[in-house]
Order: sequence, then structure tokens, then C-alpha cells
Amino acid sequence: MHPFIRTRIAPTPSGYLHLGNVFSFALTAALAKRSGAQILLRIDDLDYTRVKREYVEDIFHTLEFLKIPWHEGPRNYREYKQTYSQTYRLPLYEEALQQLRQQGRVFACGCSRATLFARHPDGVYTGTCRNRGLSLDDPTCSWRIDTSGAALPPHMQYFVVRKRDGFPAYQLASVVDDVHFAVDLIVRGEDLRESTQAQIYLAGLLGYDSFVSTTFYHHNLLKDFAQGKLSKSSGATSVQYLRKQGKTAEDIYRKITQLAGLERQVSSWEEMEASIPVGLIKN
Ligand SMILES: [Zn+2]
Repeated sequence: MHPFIRTRIAPTPSGYLHLGNVFSFALTAALAKRSGAQILLRIDDLDYTRVKREYVEDIFHTLEFLKIPWHEGPRNYREYKQTYSQTYRLPLYEEALQQLRQQGRVFACGCSRATLFARHPDGVYTGTCRNRGLSLDDPTCSWRIDTSGAALPPHMQYFVVRKRDGFPAYQLASVVDDVHFAVDLIVRGEDLRESTQAQIYLAGLLGYDSFVSTTFYHHNLLKDFAQGKLSKSSGATSVQYLRKQGKTAEDIYRKITQLAGLERQVSSWEEMEASIPVGLIKN
């Protein structure tokens, strides 16, 4: 495998980490080891209405419990709060947003959540507000990228880069962070493949050549998640819950082996490297 400098694991502290999260992190650790990359822990906390201290602490506890290493980023809640929260990087996100504004690549969208759902029940936004001439300074508007002519999947057409609360949206913050931290390897679930396409498009607009040349691996989701049998928010799949039931780290890895359809039983992330079936990871 080609050597890489840095990869990252980027949990959102809006719930307890579940099996799907830790499968992705274990795989990231395995691929980092194989390619010599350092692992950055990035805690995506911009969705402040859903962030809770206990969920942030759960990230540290769970990674330590499963012995998943990270070399950079916060070691504990205090370091996260004092140095690494995304709120410290708001000026970077704002700079990117202003650049997009100056380039004339964004338009204001005044659609409420209810309006969006009523007009686009399939979640595909068709550019309704593009020619309405709403002001980008209107505090009730979000900012969307004018993706006209871009080869993006339907759900990523005119994606939001700035939310109605004035905070940067996920796609923008994620790209800015990955460039800021010089990440060159990104391992994420197949469910984020469309996000990757949107992010590469955004990075192109912003002139982030390093992001455009980042290597992406999209892995299959754990079976029960992919089939909708397990809800991500369902407590029964949280590592915290399984620990309280007396499960060991080895038990968790065995459960992941089974749900991921790995060829060989693994009891640690190190063993996972050798067991990744062909086709599990697709570029
Ligand atoms: Zn709109």
C-alpha cells in the first residue's frame, strides 16, 4: 500500500458510539498501520444542539476500551474543550464561506425544513431559491452552492454550506478541517460516498488541490445497518451498552467480524488488517 502521512477518525458527539462507528475506526487504524499514517482524532461538534459532554467522553472511553490508537488531537474532554473543538476553527470556515461568496458560487435559500419536505419529499433540492435573489445577509437563510452543471448525485445538488443558524454545514467544515490538518487518507463508510463527491467538488471551487488528490476508501457498512435492521440511534448497538452488559473488547471485535462478514475471526483492530476481504474496501 502507498504510504500516507495522516488519516483521521471524526466522530460526532451526538450519541454513544455504535458498532458501525467503531468498525470504521478499527478499519482506519488498520489501514493507517499498513500505510504508516498518523491518526488524528477530530471531534465534529458544530451541531451544538445535539452535542453532550457524556457523548464526547464516550469517544475517549470507547477508543481506549477497544485499544484503537490516535496520535494527534485531544486526549481527553479538557483538551477537546480547550483546544480542539471545531468552534476554534470557525474563522477558517468563515474564510472559506466568504471566498465562495466572492466567487459568486453561493445563493441564499429561504426554505424552511417543512417547505423543503413538502416540495421535495425525496430530499432532492431542485434549486428553488436560486433565482429568487434572496440576500445572503438574511439571517433566516441558509447558503447553498450553485452546483448547476456539476456531475453530482441528486441528493448533493445545491448542497448547503452554511446553515440557517450561521454555522458552517458538515460538508464545508469537513473539507476545511481535512485541508487544515493535511489529511491525505480518508476512510469512511459507503454511506458517505456522495458526500465525498460533494466535498471534492467544493474543494475544487476553493482551490484546495491537496484535498482533490486525497485518497478515499469507502468501506461496506455492517450488514444490519445497511439493511436497516439496526438503527444507528438504537441503544442496543452502542459500545457503551454492550460494555455495561459485560462484553469485553474481544467480544465487540467478534461481533464486528460477524456483522462485517470478515473471512477470519478478529479480536483486535490489528488482526483486522489481515482479514479485510477483497471488495470490502472500494476506492
Ligand atoms: Zn430554497
